[in-house]
Amino acid sequence: MAKVIFLDRDGVINKCAKEHEYITQWEYFEFLENVPGAIRLLNNEEYKIVVISNQRGIARGIMTKDEVDELHQRVNEYLNNNGANIDCFLYCPHETGKCNCRKPDIGLFLAAERLFEVDKIHSYMIGDSESDIIAGKNYGVKTVFIGEYNSLADVCCKSLYEAVQIILKGERLG
Ligand SMILES: [Zn+2]
Repeated sequence: MAKVIFLDRDGVINKCAKEHEYITQWEYFEFLENVPGAIRLLNNEEYKIVVISNQRGIARGIMTKDEVDELHQRVNEYLNNNGANIDCFLYCPHETGKCNCRKPDIGLFLAAERLFEVDKIHSYMIGDSESDIIAGKNYGVKTVFIGEYNSLADVCCKSLYEAVQIILKGERLG
């Protein structure tokens, strides 16, 4: 069984776009502080890293699947050059209300289960929006909110790096 860290993308790995805008290419992708280091720590502890994100911009014709895939490939190349790796990127390309994979639905988690047998007890969803936290809860993993505060999340903190510190410390304590 695989321990999995499910990561939202914008606001967790990279800076969010402005409201109603989308990160459509590498040139607009800005890593948040210490993200490669945080992912590297998880890689070292043998967590699988799965990015799950809503990419409604595809349904809206703002970007194509190929562009999103190419962006994700560039992100992983950058991480690989910094000693870190994301195992896979899963995303929902659909418009709201048209599928079962747009968070807070759990279709993307179920897609991950086709790749790994997920050890839910030792797996986490980390996100910066309430829909991420609800999705993680619906699926049945622990949840970490990045931001000021979210009452539904198991843990709230300021950054992915801080989230990883808390997770690894907690797992060591059992
Ligand atoms: Zn979908």
